[in-house]
Amino acid sequence: MDVKLKSLAQTPLLLEPNRVWRFYEGGKMIERFQGNSAGADSLYPEEWVGSTVQAVNPGEHYKTGEGLAVISRGLPEPVPLKSLTEQFPEEMLGAAHVKTYGTNSALLVKLLDSAIRLLIHAHPTKAFALEHLNSCFGKTEAWFVLSTRPEVDDPYVLIAFREEIGRKRYRELLDKQDVKEMMRIMHRVSVRAGDVVYVKAGLPHAIGEGTFMVELQEPTDFSILLERSCAGFTLREDESFLGLDPSLTLSVIDHRVYSEKEVQDELVIKPKRLRKQGESAEYQLLGYDTTECFAGHRLEVRGELGDATYGRFSILIVLDGEGKLQHRGGEIPLRRGTEIFLPASIGEHVFQTATQMTIFKSMPARV
Ligand SMILES: [Zn+2]
Repeated sequence: MDVKLKSLAQTPLLLEPNRVWRFYEGGKMIERFQGNSAGADSLYPEEWVGSTVQAVNPGEHYKTGEGLAVISRGLPEPVPLKSLTEQFPEEMLGAAHVKTYGTNSALLVKLLDSAIRLLIHAHPTKAFALEHLNSCFGKTEAWFVLSTRPEVDDPYVLIAFREEIGRKRYRELLDKQDVKEMMRIMHRVSVRAGDVVYVKAGLPHAIGEGTFMVELQEPTDFSILLERSCAGFTLREDESFLGLDPSLTLSVIDHRVYSEKEVQDELVIKPKRLRKQGESAEYQLLGYDTTECFAGHRLEVRGELGDATYGRFSILIVLDGEGKLQHRGGEIPLRRGTEIFLPASIGEHVFQTATQMTIFKSMPARV
């Protein structure tokens, strides 16, 4: 066993930028967020933070290793995060986590910035993934809106059906690619910074243009693309339906009709304060009371805020401000855009700032 690598599994790990190719444009806000004021939109609109998941782009756009996070600061050569979680699962992920999920991190965290409206799509449930995709995970996800572009008047997302639509009729809409009607039968929900939307696997959804967010997901890249053309790319049917028979794949689409109130009550999640320490506080943005798949918290640090890993790992993104993270083995400077994988073995630690600092804390599936 490599002693040096093992010591890495016992220290907070600074993550390198890890952009992923997609067939839609965006990413300018990620560039700005990371301090590059001249950064522009490109076909790299997503940053996969602390990811141990391979990105699955269609056809010739599939690139082995894309999506996988790497640790390189202070090392003679880069080490894939995945090799650390596989070699030192208990230190990295935590004993209870390993018991339940093996060496799978059971979490995918992204920064996503869409310049255009994204395709209407859906994701498989766990049960479907287990039966047809040889995976213990489907893809429930959640959106935590960080900002919206000022030039977009009414930023929005599309989610769930708002009127009854039979499977046969929906299939006809898909075959015709009647996007106008596909959009009309979905809820259009206005969003702004701070909003949290829960996207249960199976629900049709799309992110509107100009929305910059943290996205938490189950650790897969399975998408059922209900809409097939986007910014000059047109996907074939077999690329849109997970390589399975379309009617089988479409059987996982959740046709439940939501009222506006049900969308607000069940899919738009209200944050709650969990604790306060002096002027600092921790808020639950979305917790295990909504889904077992992941949790997202916001740490508001004024002066100091103590925290602990309680035997589980987390992935941190500094959203705003600057300061440092003090832990048993030393300290790490933090500033807006810093991304950290915090191994389960870290235990108690303290966030400190002379001004203020806001941190997004992502946690994996419940054990
Ligand atoms: Zn999605």
